[in-house]
Amino acid sequence: MSRLVDTHCHLDFSVFDADRLAILQHCRQQHIQNIVIPGVSAGGWPSLLSLCQQHSMLLPAAGLHPCFVHQHQAEDLVLLEQLCTTDSLVAIGEIGLDFLHRRTSADNDNNDQRAMDKESQRHYFSAQLDIAGQYHLPVLIHALKAHFEVLALLKQKRDVQGVIHAYSGSYEQAVEYLDLGFKLGFGGAYSYPRASRLRSLVTRLPLQAWVLETDAPDMSPLSHSGERNSPEYLSEIARVFLSLYDSHLSAKQIMEQLYKNTRNVFPVLEL
Ligand SMILES: [Zn+2]
Repeated sequence: MSRLVDTHCHLDFSVFDADRLAILQHCRQQHIQNIVIPGVSAGGWPSLLSLCQQHSMLLPAAGLHPCFVHQHQAEDLVLLEQLCTTDSLVAIGEIGLDFLHRRTSADNDNNDQRAMDKESQRHYFSAQLDIAGQYHLPVLIHALKAHFEVLALLKQKRDVQGVIHAYSGSYEQAVEYLDLGFKLGFGGAYSYPRASRLRSLVTRLPLQAWVLETDAPDMSPLSHSGERNSPEYLSEIARVFLSLYDSHLSAKQIMEQLYKNTRNVFPVLEL
């Protein structure tokens, strides 16, 4: 198996505290060369950065995730800019827009509150795209039920590129992202046979479109459905991709191209 990179994994989350070292060792045995760890809120950045300092295979990103919009404060953006100048961030992320309507609390069912949340998400997303442009860093984008708005914003900020993580949009939207220089994250959701619309994207889009990710601890692949996801399952994600991508190329050639795609986003990866 060729070199693999997990472009999106929350290995800093506490669900990995008990067995993180064993997971990393197992990943190395499986030729997983690097794992990109995106940050989701300012409170989590210090421990994420120190984890990445301890293990050179882990690459840090920092960002303010749209689903944690209630935790973010104006000072977090100032701190993020400071990290861009002082720390070895490989990307700004995880950032984006999440307009999926979750009926989790009374708050969320209030229309005014939802409108304010959306406005706040837009504010932080836009500000972080500007920071990424200013410091020439790629972005790791979370976009759920919001591709129309994300695309509109990216068209205004042409100097920013990166990955649309766990891509779940349409073929037409995928083509627009690719035209803007983005890559699409291929992960566990594509391993389920019922995801036929998503799976068909692999045959319709060019090989240059894709990078691999686990999004652990979420988005477990089919074989580990209902369990905690892990970067150890990245080789399985790679096998799913190979089974869907119909081509005359060898598995090795396909994996090498995916690695090149990933290096295209993260030039810090070794040649
Ligand atoms: Zn994520």
